[in-house]
Amino acid sequence: MSVLARVGVGPLCAAARAVMPCFWRGKYFSSGREPAANQVTPMLRHLIYKIKATGPITVAEYMKEVLTNPAKGYYVYRDMLGQKGDFITSPEISQIFGELLGIWFISEWMATGKNAAFQLVELGPGRGTLSGDILRVFSQLGSVLKNCDISVHLVEVSEKLSEIQALTLTEEKFPLERNPGSSVYMKGVTKSGIPISWYRDLQDVPKGYSFYLAHEFFDVLPVHKFQRTPQGWREVFVDIDPQASDKLRFVLAPCATPAEVFIQRDETRDHVEVCPEAGVIVQELSQRIALTGGAALIADYGHDGTKTDTFRGFCGHKLHDVLIAPGTADLTADVDFSYLRRMAEGQVASLGPIKQQTFLKNMGIDVRLKVLLDKSDEPSRQQLLQGYDMLMNPKKMGERFHFFALLPHQRLHGGSHLMNACQSKPSLSPVAGFGELAWR
Ligand code: SAH
Repeated sequence: MSVLARVGVGPLCAAARAVMPCFWRGKYFSSGREPAANQVTPMLRHLIYKIKATGPITVAEYMKEVLTNPAKGYYVYRDMLGQKGDFITSPEISQIFGELLGIWFISEWMATGKNAAFQLVELGPGRGTLSGDILRVFSQLGSVLKNCDISVHLVEVSEKLSEIQALTLTEEKFPLERNPGSSVYMKGVTKSGIPISWYRDLQDVPKGYSFYLAHEFFDVLPVHKFQRTPQGWREVFVDIDPQASDKLRFVLAPCATPAEVFIQRDETRDHVEVCPEAGVIVQELSQRIALTGGAALIADYGHDGTKTDTFRGFCGHKLHDVLIAPGTADLTADVDFSYLRRMAEGQVASLGPIKQQTFLKNMGIDVRLKVLLDKSDEPSRQQLLQGYDMLMNPKKMGERFHFFALLPHQRLHGGSHLMNACQSKPSLSPVAGFGELAWR
C-alpha cells in the first residue's frame, strides 16, 4: 500500500472544503483605474499627510504602508481569506494541497538522511490551514517520524491572523504564552503536542535543520516599478492627484532613483517590477539551508522574468484599483522567480518554477483524490471534485501558480547516497514533485 493511501486511513477531517466561484489573486489584471467610489480611508489620510510632508513615495513604500503598517495595515487587523474575505488560496480550497506538501517535506527529510530533528517554518501562514494539514500528515505518518523531534515556527506580522492560526493549530488545554515585546511574540503547543512559536521576522527563527514554506507570501512583498523612457529607467511613484486633493495618482520620477540598481543590465522589457525584500529573504533562506541543511518550498503565482505590469488589488473577490480606498483591499504583484533564482545562486541549488498542476500530479494528487472520494458521501464528493478542478485546471490555478524549491547543492549534485530515498525508479529530478514520486 502506498504511503499516500495510508494517510487516507485517518479521519476525513475537513476533507471537503466549500469551493465558491471566486477570483484567485493570480488572475491577470491590468492595474488601470476602475469606476469605483473613492473612500477616504484612515490609510488614505495617513498617506496624504505623508506625501504632503516628504513628497511622492515609491510603489514599494506605498505597498508596505498599505499592507503592513502596524497601526492601519490591511494585513494587520483583519481576516481577508476565504469566502467572506477578499481572496481564496489553495489550502483553503482543498485539504489535499497541504497533505501533499506534508508528504514533500517527509520525502526530503528521508532523502537527506532522516535528521534527528527538524523545524517546520512557515512564512505568512494566513489562517494556519496549510500548516494544520501538513501537521495532520505528520501525525498520521507517526511511525515514520516517531524518533524525530519536530517544532513549528510561524513568521507572521498580522496580529489578527496569528490569533486565528493559534485557534486552528494549538491545543486549548495549554494556554498560549504571549510576549508582545519579544521577537518570539507567542508560544504554544499544537494539537498533536508539538511546540509552536510565532515571530515577526525570519531572522528571529532559530537556525537549525529546517523546512521552510512560503505559500502566497512573496506576492505581497513590496515591489518597485520602473518604466523605460528615452532618458533611461524612471521609477513609478505615488503622488496626490493635483485635480482632487483626496485622490492618489502614479507619476514618474524626474531622475534616476537608487532602486534602479536592481534592474538587470541586459533587461529588454519596457516596464519592470523588482522586489528587493524578496531577494533579502531568499538570501537568508539560502544561507540557512547551505549552513544547516533542509529545504525551502515556495509556491506562488509568478513568471520567470518575462512579465511587466502585474501590480493589482483584490477586494471581496473582485479586482480593485490599487490606488482607491487603500487599506481596504489586498495589494499583490507576480513573483519574479528568475530574480529569486539569482538571489539563491552560489549558496544553494534551485528547482523550478514548475506549474502547480505538474507538481501536484507528480506528488500523487490523483491517488489521494481517489482515496478520499471512495470514503465520501455525495455532497462531499462534489466538493472534493470542485476543489481538485480549482487546483489543477490550467485555466484556474493549475498553470498560474508555480512551485520553486531551494535545496543544498549536494542534494542535486551529490553521490547516489543522497538520491531520494523514496524513489524506486530513476526520474529526471531526484526531488519529489519536480520529478515523479514513486513510493517504495
Ligand atoms: N499562506 C497563506 C496566506 C497567504 S496571505 C495561504 O496561502 O492561505 C499572506 C500572508 O502573509 C498573511 O498571513 C499575511 O499576514 C502575511 N504577511 C504579509 N506580509 C508579511 C511580512 N512582511 N512578514 C510576515 N508575514 C507577512
